[in-house]
Amino acid sequence: MKAIGPCLIAGAAALVSSLPLEVQARDETIERLRLGSGFEIVLGERQPDPGGRLLEALATWLGAKLGQPVPTSLPRLVFKPAGQIAVLRFKQYASEMVQQQDQPNIISIYDARENTIYLRDTWSGATAADLSVLVHELVHHFQEVHQTKFECEAAREAKAFELQEKWLRLFGESLEEEFQIDPFTLLIRTSCAM
Ligand SMILES: [Zn+2]
Repeated sequence: MKAIGPCLIAGAAALVSSLPLEVQARDETIERLRLGSGFEIVLGERQPDPGGRLLEALATWLGAKLGQPVPTSLPRLVFKPAGQIAVLRFKQYASEMVQQQDQPNIISIYDARENTIYLRDTWSGATAADLSVLVHELVHHFQEVHQTKFECEAAREAKAFELQEKWLRLFGESLEEEFQIDPFTLLIRTSCAM
């Protein structure tokens, strides 16, 4: 298997959303997910078994969106304190994080070599934003399994952010609101020329 660097999601996550939107989105999202796999996402509820049926359901959703088969083997999930995730990045891999104005805030890492997604131990899966992080990293798993070719590492991020944004939109949320990733920041992070 080709070894690639880890994927990092960074941003200052402000997980505050307005209640009416969340309630409205709840119904839409349940319907959407039922179409694909029958699994129900209910915001506000902690995911009891994120590495099991939830992961499968998200992978099914992604497979449909990407038009690709769902990988038979899905990554394992490992939860770590935020500081340890940051250390993982600096210890094992060269930096691939595109600079941003503020201090990078590492939220998750996909490690293709270990077939592992590292999430913060504060991750509960109870918010659209939490779930979107998993969606993002799962896109990288699809890329790895299907050996998608990219012009550069930054280009790998474009599809992951696109699907993450699609997911957030189901809940009336966005990368900009939840992760302070505005269109300009996104362009920088996904362009080979930058
Ligand atoms: Zn990524």
